[in-house]
Amino acid sequence: MTLQEMEEFVTSLGQPRYRAEQIFKWLYKQGVDDFALMSNLPLAFQRQLAEKGLVTAAVTEEGAREAADGTKKYYFRLLDGCHVESVFIPEERRKTVCFSTQVGCAIGCAFCATGQQGFVRNLRVAEIVDQVRRIGIERKTRITHAVAMGQGEPLANYEATLKAIRLLNADYGLGIAARHLTISTSGIVPAIYRLAEEDLQINLAISLHAARDDLRSELIPLNRTYPLPVLMEAGRHYAARTKRRVTLEYIMIDGVNDGEEDLKELLALTNGWLCHVNLIPYNPVPGTGYHPSASATLRRFYQTLQRSNVAVSIRQERGAEIEAACGQLRQRLKQMKKR
Ligand code: SAH
Ligand code: SF4
Repeated sequence: MTLQEMEEFVTSLGQPRYRAEQIFKWLYKQGVDDFALMSNLPLAFQRQLAEKGLVTAAVTEEGAREAADGTKKYYFRLLDGCHVESVFIPEERRKTVCFSTQVGCAIGCAFCATGQQGFVRNLRVAEIVDQVRRIGIERKTRITHAVAMGQGEPLANYEATLKAIRLLNADYGLGIAARHLTISTSGIVPAIYRLAEEDLQINLAISLHAARDDLRSELIPLNRTYPLPVLMEAGRHYAARTKRRVTLEYIMIDGVNDGEEDLKELLALTNGWLCHVNLIPYNPVPGTGYHPSASATLRRFYQTLQRSNVAVSIRQERGAEIEAACGQLRQRLKQMKKR
């Protein structure tokens, strides 16, 4: 619920409007889920809330693995027994959560573990928000950044993802700055146009991974529906409309998209607009047949882009040893418990 929805709810129970804010403070600022512990609420009202069957915990931690650098992968159970994974990535000044927006994913990218799993269902708003909230509670820290780069295609679950983003951003919610929130998409073009009209300063990342249509269609089947010219047009539109630099994610896969020709095509795509290339070492997923590019190749891409005045960075992959890195998330509790 938004604060306004909660206000309507509490007033429908005969309570003053400000009770909504009190409940939100407990939930988001104190990390308290149990109505009986919300000490400034009248006892009768606490009981009433519990009786109404109001759920505060939409995800429950069922397992977790932590890497040496503090990256931690969570295995969350949803109320209907489905599962999703989320990742906590601590840096000196940033505390980032990578959250999921769907159980599985229908896009079926050839290189991605989630894509191999197929699509189960969209996540609900509470299930998205609660991944971030719960990790903040468990790590006893304020989450400063959140990225929709876990399982699922966020723009294929547009309504829930956007409402969740607003709750993550709201002062009465988790209070994460809009500029610290990122949606990554495989390229659902109509949804990018729609996102450009939202009154939000969030970041958009487009999973490019190939700079020519035949190769991109092989890697990301959705490219057949929204090929590169229309996708890049949408990216340019988003950048122009929001004045936000759009990130182009480019996984480096050995012998697939990391040749001289690929580099030239990538340079051409980035020409003349507000974008930024994020080069990502490929994280191996068994059964795909893909392998990461040599580090010298990665460096060559980086240096050439930089010399051509394209904003470029290399993503520092974290948590690969616990299979918490990009594209490695899927339902695999058995393995998580074993180790
Ligand atoms: N569905 C969205 C967001 C989730 S995936 C999307 O595809 O953009 C987040 C990022 O991880 C995407 O850029 C995706 O292409 C990338 N990714 C998927 N599998 C990967 C892998 N095995 N190694 C590195 N990055 C991967
Ligand atoms: Fe889905 Fe993104 Fe994985 Fe593609 S990369 S299958 S869109 S989660």
